[in-house]
Amino acid sequence: GEAHYDVVVVGSGGAGLTAAIQAGESGARVLIVEKMPVPGGNTLKASVGMNAAETRYQTLKGIRDSKALFYEETLKGGHGKNNTLLLHEFVEQAPQAVDWLAKHDIVLSDITITGGMSIDRTHRPADASAVGGYLVSGLLKNIHQRPDIEMMTDTSVSGIEYDDGRVTGVTLLNEQQESFRVQCHSVIVATGGFSANQKMVVSYRPDLAGFVTTNHPGATGSGIALLQSIGAGTVDMGEIQIHPTVEQTTSYLISESVRGGGAILVSQKGERFINEMDTRDKVSAKIIGLPEKSAWIVFDQQIREHNKAIETYLSRGFVVSADTPEALAEKTGMDATRLQATLACFNQVVANKQPDPFGRTTALRQPLSQRPFYAIRIAPGVHHTMGGVTINTHTGVLDENQQPLAGVFAAGEVVGGIHGGNRIGGNAVADIVIFGRVAGENAAKYALAHR
Ligand code: ADP
Repeated sequence: GEAHYDVVVVGSGGAGLTAAIQAGESGARVLIVEKMPVPGGNTLKASVGMNAAETRYQTLKGIRDSKALFYEETLKGGHGKNNTLLLHEFVEQAPQAVDWLAKHDIVLSDITITGGMSIDRTHRPADASAVGGYLVSGLLKNIHQRPDIEMMTDTSVSGIEYDDGRVTGVTLLNEQQESFRVQCHSVIVATGGFSANQKMVVSYRPDLAGFVTTNHPGATGSGIALLQSIGAGTVDMGEIQIHPTVEQTTSYLISESVRGGGAILVSQKGERFINEMDTRDKVSAKIIGLPEKSAWIVFDQQIREHNKAIETYLSRGFVVSADTPEALAEKTGMDATRLQATLACFNQVVANKQPDPFGRTTALRQPLSQRPFYAIRIAPGVHHTMGGVTINTHTGVLDENQQPLAGVFAAGEVVGGIHGGNRIGGNAVADIVIFGRVAGENAAKYALAHR
């Protein structure tokens, strides 16, 4: 007969994998369904880290932080549009989520900062490599150890059977386009965002036509359509984030941790033009306003040595390097005198703790003075879709009248509302771990009660 599970998880990014582990630990038999050949989704590309306030790793480093401040700064960064109930839950559960990862051998003990935050609260792997690959491989290791979790790749969920107010199963489509069904009592939709679906992006935001995207090709928004077809409501669909620092020939994202480590942005003229640690929406808008619609991210050897992601950029061949600022200016076509003056001024701000002319107050770590010097040409790219389906604080998917669809849960980028009008760097990884756990626990509870 047909295969039967308690919980089906749709999508194997950070939200889906976390949810599956939590559901397994809560006593459920779980199937993860992933449409791409490999698990990990867009989470594999997450670079900077996971935000959380009042964690033990902050304490160990002597960083004093508060949940209230984290809440306030996230809300301000989101233009006050965030769903405050979800945001409250998010901030409250963030430190436990960091501990939960540590218990699963995923240790985020290095800490940096992102735009819009006033305190170092972005947790990263101890060796300062990108967070995404580390997180996904750590979660997969846990999943492979659990006999109660199975996974199918190259298979997409094409329908959720929702009859008489309950989930009875899902329809799957394999690589050979064969359709089959499995039975389940609850479903967790963790299909990510729709940044790679240009038609869908442009339908909500015509101004984003022609922009590159940082996302993997699976970020098509199919989960939103799946849930809408059984009555789910959506929110903030036009809120789409463009990330300011994307290498345009490869669509490769230059991690915010480079600026968090002390890098600056300069125009083609060789001048700074913004507080680099402002929020992504503001930095992107300023770059688009430059005559070239692009800029350079400039850093030195010391920053390179503290950020493993930079090795990848070097090996991909799009980093310009030179032994002096003059030589860097020559190679990038900047004005050498202006670039030198820019660096001298910035270095004075850092060394003498003077007020920054652009109002930068964070990530003023050390002067940019250790050769070689580096530059990467960047411009904005479509990065994150803040909008998505509506959920309650238990991750229960809500219909248009705010009523939960029994047995239907969602977590991660497919969900709308948490980030409001602009997502803060480091809050997506936090989102998927925090609400992935909530979804796993509640979907398991629901399934076990309806066995
Ligand atoms: P999140 O960060 O919210 O976890 P990701 O983008 O990392 O989101 O992961 C979402 C995953 O869901 C991707 O691997 C994507 O290929 C997968 N996915 C999207 N739609 C479907 C679908 N209909 N069926 C199965 N998998 C899907």
